[in-house]
Amino acid sequence: MSIDASLLSELRAKLEEEKGTVEAELKRLGSDHEGPDAAFKDRGSDEDSNAQEVTEFQEDLSLEASLETTLGDVKEALQRMDDGTYGVCEECGSDIPVERLRALPRATTCVTCNE
Ligand SMILES: [Zn+2]
Repeated sequence: MSIDASLLSELRAKLEEEKGTVEAELKRLGSDHEGPDAAFKDRGSDEDSNAQEVTEFQEDLSLEASLETTLGDVKEALQRMDDGTYGVCEECGSDIPVERLRALPRATTCVTCNE
């Protein structure tokens, strides 16, 4: 692995920060909406309004899903730092370029394998 300790701690700090941001966002999404049932009760029988509530709820769900994916990647990257395998492509085993890690600290594959 070709990453020096200072860069590693810089990237770890970035990952920890991203983890905190994503977790806060997930928490906000989880407590913000009460689900479509609650929305239906609030809005009565206005169908347009109900449809919009459902759409917003579904958008929240897909946002939540992508945040979950991001959080998983971040946790995996942190785990790989602990394991000493960080910066190595999990597909082909070659070093992930430092520029790529700087741009995307949670990357676990090289650019070629990611495509
Ligand atoms: Zn690769």
